[in-house]
Amino acid sequence: METKDDVRGGTEATELGISTRHTEPSDDMTPFEAATFFFHRSADRLELRDEMREVLASTYRELAVQVPVRMDDGRVVVFRGYRIQHNGARGPYKGGIRYHESADLDEVRALAALMTWKNAVIDVPFGGAKGGVQCEPALLSSAELERLTRRFTGMIAYIIGVNRDIPAPDMGTNAQVMAWMMDAYGHRAGHTPGIVTGKPVELGGSPGREEATGRGVVICGREAAKRMDMTWSDCSIAIQGFGNVGYWTAALAAEQGAKVVAVSDVAGGTYNKDGLDLEALSRHQKQSLSVSEFDGGDKVSNEELLELECDILIPAAIHGVIHCKNAGRIKAKLVVEAANGPTTPAADEILNDNGVTVLPDILANAGGVTVSYFEWVQNIQQFRWEADQVNFELKKKMSKATNQVFSRAEQGGLTLRDAAFDIAVQRVAHAAEVRGYI
Ligand code: GLU
Repeated sequence: METKDDVRGGTEATELGISTRHTEPSDDMTPFEAATFFFHRSADRLELRDEMREVLASTYRELAVQVPVRMDDGRVVVFRGYRIQHNGARGPYKGGIRYHESADLDEVRALAALMTWKNAVIDVPFGGAKGGVQCEPALLSSAELERLTRRFTGMIAYIIGVNRDIPAPDMGTNAQVMAWMMDAYGHRAGHTPGIVTGKPVELGGSPGREEATGRGVVICGREAAKRMDMTWSDCSIAIQGFGNVGYWTAALAAEQGAKVVAVSDVAGGTYNKDGLDLEALSRHQKQSLSVSEFDGGDKVSNEELLELECDILIPAAIHGVIHCKNAGRIKAKLVVEAANGPTTPAADEILNDNGVTVLPDILANAGGVTVSYFEWVQNIQQFRWEADQVNFELKKKMSKATNQVFSRAEQGGLTLRDAAFDIAVQRVAHAAEVRGYI
């Protein structure tokens, strides 16, 4: 008799981007297992039927490619690249491209799934995807990065498209990388600005896209602070990470009156309980110096920064930095997840037990993809918006989604993460259902 596995050709579950289901949270979960853990909890609460759960717990399509790149010294180095589409029920796949040494299959799967939930909770008409090339961009010259980008774009060109899958910047990539991607794609398809977002403004990028993720983090953080009876101008904030997201979060939070007491980069951080002089810090950073060498603050390690005395903690670097061993020592009342997956499921439980409010990544860092949506709309309409309009529409979307998440949490007695997942999973499942997808 033919069994279910025979019908499926005996494919291993892991080959399909289906993670092992864990019922107990732990720090040992892979990034994809952690992202799927939150999904399954939501699927339980929503009583999702089994077929729907199976579809949404796994990825739709995974493309893994080898990316041979001629280095400046004549050698050829073969990198590994991925584009993973998680779910497209609500619209074209959308999500960034990450250049990072940890960007492996599992991490890119996790990030693709988080994009599906993020796009649903902020309510932009996109599905979720992510791409990555496992490399250390800081060790590559600009010419090597350009060759790598053009090669990688050619290799994923079969599955991307303006109405199919639209990449954007993420860690290790920027507007210049998007310009190369657009140009490489255009060799075959003709001038196609809507193929990527986060482009330079001169090439059809949107005003306000560069700072959009940081701006969204601040909008969301301020809404939460208000609901927690915290006055923004009295708040002290520690930010881990001083890349695009960390930098703009710090600059905009301070511009709006909060006191940024600590920031960090890969080499470590700087702390000043009276508030850092961010303009001086930015000048210091422009000389290619680590913020930890800044003389306007005391040196702290990345681990120490997380445990500093402050009102709001904003992890804006990489995944898994808040874990079982340090979660109990976090003193902030509010954690705003500007990075993707900074809190392990086990740490999330400790923070909840300790009464720390966590604004989840799929809501807090959705400002970037929201302005990506505005950029895509402008490209399709061939019409340019003013920065004021972009920022106004961003604020409207972020505030609405934040309020929906808070209301759902209050009604259901849920954490903000669980509420955000419930809203997102319900929207995606509904779209899949009415589409007749499953
Ligand atoms: N990489 C960003 C994120 O993780 C932006 C994605 C996009 O704009 O498509 O949300």
